[in-house]
Amino acid sequence: RYSTAAAVEELITPPVQISYTQNLIDGKFVDAASGRTFPTYDPRTAEVIAHVAEADGEDIDRAVSAARKAFDEGPWPKMTPYQRSLILLRFADLVEKHNDELAALETWNNGKPYEQAVKAEIPMISRLFRYYAGWADKIHGLTVPADGNHHVQTLHEPIGVAGQIIPWNFPLIMFAWKVGPALACGNTIVLKTAEQTPLTALYAAKLFHEAGLPPGVLNVVSGFGPTAGAALASHMDVDKLAFTGSTDTGKIVLELAARSNLKPVTLELGGKSPFIVCEDADIDKAVELAHFALFFNQGQCCCAGSRTYVHEKVYDEFLEKARARAIRRTVGDPFKKGVEQGPQIDSEQFKKVLRYIRSGIESNATLECGGERVGSKGYFIQPTVFSNVQDDMLIAQDEIFGPVQSILKFKDLDDVIRRANNTRYGLAAGIFTKNIDVANRLTRALRVGSVWVNCFDVFDAAIPFGGYKMSGIGREKGIYSLKNYLQVKAVITPLQNPAW
Ligand code: NAD
Repeated sequence: RYSTAAAVEELITPPVQISYTQNLIDGKFVDAASGRTFPTYDPRTAEVIAHVAEADGEDIDRAVSAARKAFDEGPWPKMTPYQRSLILLRFADLVEKHNDELAALETWNNGKPYEQAVKAEIPMISRLFRYYAGWADKIHGLTVPADGNHHVQTLHEPIGVAGQIIPWNFPLIMFAWKVGPALACGNTIVLKTAEQTPLTALYAAKLFHEAGLPPGVLNVVSGFGPTAGAALASHMDVDKLAFTGSTDTGKIVLELAARSNLKPVTLELGGKSPFIVCEDADIDKAVELAHFALFFNQGQCCCAGSRTYVHEKVYDEFLEKARARAIRRTVGDPFKKGVEQGPQIDSEQFKKVLRYIRSGIESNATLECGGERVGSKGYFIQPTVFSNVQDDMLIAQDEIFGPVQSILKFKDLDDVIRRANNTRYGLAAGIFTKNIDVANRLTRALRVGSVWVNCFDVFDAAIPFGGYKMSGIGREKGIYSLKNYLQVKAVITPLQNPAW
């Protein structure tokens, strides 16, 4: 049934070299203080593709002092906002110039389809940096009409050294969401990549220096969470922490930040987003969109539409078509044209997804298709669909982060609103209906940070993203992320000679 297993056997050489594997601190590529390295893999084969410098507490100290010096002594925060915006624009141009290499490296280290990386993800990065270059010289305070004889103004100042910890599912997009607004506001940065995907951020940081970024402004380190990540989260000289990853790790970094210097923290965490198909929906379109909402990026999206709620009147038709669509999904070497789904990121995630599939079967959900690995090497999993899923099953509650669609039946709007909201998460939701009143009611009733109506996963640099409840704290992108990276200073000056 899965015609694509053959493609997995016939691996394609990535058209790119791995040039940067050391930590980038103070504008220079350097080995880890300990001299240690760790392997990074090709998820298509589980083969090692490079060894990268392994940062720990000492490297984090070095990176933070470089960022501190670059912040305190300048020139970065003291440059005119326009000069800063020009560097962001030059970086965007370089990303565009190196689009194909960056995409190939992303696919090689992460396993996502090359076509997705080259046509959509890397172009989104240059677009995002151009968006934030536009903001750099439009950040300003207010004149405040306070009571009394005073001139009162607010200054919007950069917050200082930003610590940023990112995940592996969209390595460069996560780099962009974090670095773009922080630099536009004049901060300096220590960014720790996910241990699974260290390569593209190092390449991008090198391009930033080519674009004219002064040394020490953007430091990029590779390393593990409990060592390098924890050292960054608990560092006394880091002024702000931004994190994307699992809810469990989000709680840990929030606690580390609180116990150290109370640095403000923004968190973008997990989700279990409902995708609601109403009775009036165009079923063919709804099937395609629900399929995309879940299976995109191997199902490794924090906002994946991982609870597909379908109205009972259209449930049978939807289910039959959703199963057929999943069976048609092409799984294989992500460098191959037309491949929709590559491997999962690593052995841990691969085993975890297969465990959830077993749990679905054991809890008596109906396995409509899939459920097994594809091929015999790497981390490929068949697109899997479960029907008859009940809200209390583990597969309907936990973030699976894999190609496993759970289809649930609902009766009416009250029923689906209550059940869609009955989760610890609140990241996103999809709604499929032609009825504007139904759409309006659902968009307001759902306690989530993004609602896509008759669409899904529409991202833009200007659209804010973030979660309610245990899906996070704060918003990234758009105008909203600027305030994560700014301090507000109130300046009050007596007026000696009232003018009137
Ligand atoms: P994770 O949350 O453990 O890792 C994310 C980042 O946090 C990585 O850079 C990691 O090194 C770092 N980290 C881990 N432990 C840390 C600690 N103690 N202190 C500081 N930093 C730490 O995620 P994971 O283990 O890679 O994936 C586990 C699950 O997380 C996935 O199955 C998925 O459910 C979820 N996830 C969510 C997102 C998202 O975008 N919301 C992204 C990746 C994974």
